[in-house]
Amino acid sequence: MSKLEDIVSLCKRRGFIFPGSDVYGGFAGTWDFGPLGVTLKKKIMDEWWKYFVENREDIYGIDAAILMNPKTWEASGHTATFADPLVECKECKSRFRADKIADGINESVTTEEFLATHTKCPVCGKENWGPIRKFNMMFTTHVGAVLPDDDEKLASQNIAYLRPETAQGIFTNYKNVIDTIYPDLPFGLAQQGKAFRNEISPRDFILRDRECSQMEIEYFVAPDTWEENFEIMRKAQHDFLENTVMLPKENIHELEVPKEDRAHYSKRTIDFMFDYPGGEQELMGLAYRTDFDLQNIARESGKSMDYRDKKTNQVFVPHVIEPSIGVERLVLAILSTAYTEDEINGEKRIVLKLPENLAPFKFCVSPLLKNKPELVAKAKEVYTKLRQKYNYVTWDDSGNIGKRYRKQDEIGTPKCIVIDFDTLEDNTVTVRDRDTTEQIRVKIDNL
Ligand SMILES: [Zn+2]
Repeated sequence: MSKLEDIVSLCKRRGFIFPGSDVYGGFAGTWDFGPLGVTLKKKIMDEWWKYFVENREDIYGIDAAILMNPKTWEASGHTATFADPLVECKECKSRFRADKIADGINESVTTEEFLATHTKCPVCGKENWGPIRKFNMMFTTHVGAVLPDDDEKLASQNIAYLRPETAQGIFTNYKNVIDTIYPDLPFGLAQQGKAFRNEISPRDFILRDRECSQMEIEYFVAPDTWEENFEIMRKAQHDFLENTVMLPKENIHELEVPKEDRAHYSKRTIDFMFDYPGGEQELMGLAYRTDFDLQNIARESGKSMDYRDKKTNQVFVPHVIEPSIGVERLVLAILSTAYTEDEINGEKRIVLKLPENLAPFKFCVSPLLKNKPELVAKAKEVYTKLRQKYNYVTWDDSGNIGKRYRKQDEIGTPKCIVIDFDTLEDNTVTVRDRDTTEQIRVKIDNL
């Protein structure tokens, strides 16, 4: 098994991440977070919110609706250009994203360029391709009372999209925010939420899924200051990734995205690549979106997006720096960093070395023996006390102590606390460290 398969297997076995709609045989490109996975994911999202919103005075949170006026996606260019190159094998009718099955081409590949790569069909092995067609990745839905037998015209008037990015929910609220809280430039608006992309071939576990959670900031700046603010945001991303969620610095690589590969709105983009088990993949992006979005909204809505500088009285449309991170991509980066196989006293073990601030549980409390009521009672007392203090504390009295340690290692619990007969005498407990497996005695009052 590859390391990625090992992680997928651990995630399912221990209740972190299940295939979406598993009971019905799954649903491609969707994943469900189980009890441990949702705690991990929520802690990661909370750390991000604390870092970028609560601990700063210049970034404010918002939470916009997923369903937005379809004009949003006309103005943003998504209706016209949010598309992947789709190619169909004429032999077996399989459909692929052209730039994912051929080397050396990008999303704007033409039919001629693709045919020149002499790529064989990954399913049937033949080389007989149809033309490249643009496949729009937005999911459509109908809003309001539309029936299946309504004529096409009526139906098309009621089309709405599941948002393909959270960013537009921020841009469309820019004016509301400056008219209500009058922030000084530079200021940012941050949002966390679901986004949807109808990927042609979802794959790589939670790296390329059809429904994902995003954490995005639009940082509004005066046009002539974009370079320095881009630099400030770039450093902040590194600091968050390396010092808050503790990704190894050496596994993060910046990729300056060349013009031809950049999104249609961007004048500069750095992709933060991460060494995943299957190879280097995008973890997050930092893009300079200019005033593209606000100008589009001004044009489409007829409303002014001008900002008046309080000191200089200058009037202009702010430019935007956008750090955008996919939560599932970050979850996988953290899981693959934490996933470790080692040997303790000649016995192989799997251990998830999650940072303490992210581990689903901080402590596991258990009585040495389940059938000794006095040990169980004392352990319950310690458990209740720690739960009040730390929230994330679990109880385990299953199997023998060795099995409990293995289980807690696999779910990344940093410390296991065991109540034994000495505890009843001297009020000390055994505290066992996940990473070193070392055990020390600690007074209950010092926990
Ligand atoms: Zn084929």
